[in-house]
Amino acid sequence: MGRYTGSVCRLCRREGEKLYLKADRCYSEKCAVEKKPQGPGQRTRGRRRKTTEYGLQLREKQKAKRFYGVLERQFRNYFKKAERQPGVTGENLLIMLERRLDNVVYRLGFAGSRKEARQLITHGHFTVNGRKANIPSMLVKVGDIIEVKEKSKESPKFKENQAQAAYKTPPEWLEMNADNLTARVMAYPRREEIDAPIAEHLIVELYSR
Ligand code: SF4
Repeated sequence: MGRYTGSVCRLCRREGEKLYLKADRCYSEKCAVEKKPQGPGQRTRGRRRKTTEYGLQLREKQKAKRFYGVLERQFRNYFKKAERQPGVTGENLLIMLERRLDNVVYRLGFAGSRKEARQLITHGHFTVNGRKANIPSMLVKVGDIIEVKEKSKESPKFKENQAQAAYKTPPEWLEMNADNLTARVMAYPRREEIDAPIAEHLIVELYSR
């Protein structure tokens, strides 16, 4: 599957808000959104075109894709699945995106960003229920145990991440044991537990056109 290789800060600037794609830098004054709140190429504020309803819906979808690091085709597939599930489609979509292993690893504090989480996963540093898990898009289920591989626990990177994970509070639907770098999925997240700056109803409206 292809992936975006350009500047990720540019993506935040395009959306006009912080999407937290770069770990520590996002929380520092070096953040590009803090420095230049305008979108790339928009040198004159007055020149910004009026946004249509379609434009707003499209931007919201782009933002969600960028926030979770998912490309168009995969995003649409998530939407189709969300539509088939009982309940509210927009919420189903976000819950599915939250269940991705890369998101879970990030939420647990094992990685500073979802991008870093994807890298750690593809490099084989995690197991799920004791089995190798090197696919970032894998969806976790209730009861799953996510663990940093024994060998990886000794690496300096994970020692550092262990210290970070110890002070990061994961969401309630994930139970973390920072001492031995394991976590359990206690439930699926409820919408109110999902910390994502996304108005999912706009995405539903877009795909319903
Ligand atoms: Fe976005 Fe982080 Fe870059 Fe700021 S530092 S623009 S939040 S990726």
